[in-house]
Amino acid sequence: MSRRTLIAGNWKMNTTLDDARDLAWAVAEATEDVEVDVVVIPPACFLVPVAEALAGSHVTIGAQNLHAEDKGAFTGEVSGPMLASAGCAWVLCGHSERRHIFGETNELVGDKVAAAHRAGLTPILCVGETLDQRDDGVTEVVVKAQVETGLAKIDAGAVERTVIAYEPVWAIGTGRTATPEQAQAVHAFIRGLLRETYGDGVADAVRIQYGGSVKPDNATQLMSQEDVDGALVGGASLKAEDFAAIVRA
Ligand code: PEP
Repeated sequence: MSRRTLIAGNWKMNTTLDDARDLAWAVAEATEDVEVDVVVIPPACFLVPVAEALAGSHVTIGAQNLHAEDKGAFTGEVSGPMLASAGCAWVLCGHSERRHIFGETNELVGDKVAAAHRAGLTPILCVGETLDQRDDGVTEVVVKAQVETGLAKIDAGAVERTVIAYEPVWAIGTGRTATPEQAQAVHAFIRGLLRETYGDGVADAVRIQYGGSVKPDNATQLMSQEDVDGALVGGASLKAEDFAAIVRA
């Protein structure tokens, strides 16, 4: 089954306001003619100006994180309804930096995925094993728990409208990429899990992105794998020409 490719650029805690606007414009211009869903994920404080800069373009906007509650006394946090009203369509849930630096658990990530859907956002549920876990042979155990608990609080209809990003932690920001075969093996495993629990319709519809040091020179091979439906790009998304080259791959 063919799924539309989805390429998202996670800018993390980078750019100033001027950089963010310039990068957004450059990405829109450089990817104009491509039949791919293109998403930029700027820092939260630049969502509105980036949304304004991209108005009328084919590029849509995501957020890097959200709070699991819709509103309330949570100083410094940002909720799903706030993101939706700022122009976001997508939100990362459980990025490995949130899990490993900020201690987000599978349960909390599941609450965030549910909060995203409540707000009408498409969550990008990030999963992936550490190097120790891969070396210990528990990649599938870890990823299974992350996927199952991450999706536990939504129904099958919402699962179908969720994106999963497989990002081996050892490949994020390290310059070390999973081989296309390693990526495909875990993507197929995730799709198999979805098939067992939700059936063919959902399993065939969900897009599974690969993330972890995706660059212009490795993107084509990774994207050509059967179960790889796009990429979540960190470092290379900060240069419009590199990001555009990945979109074209
Ligand atoms: C990421 O942050 O999701 C990521 C994959 O980063 P990088 O491309 O820099 O490895």
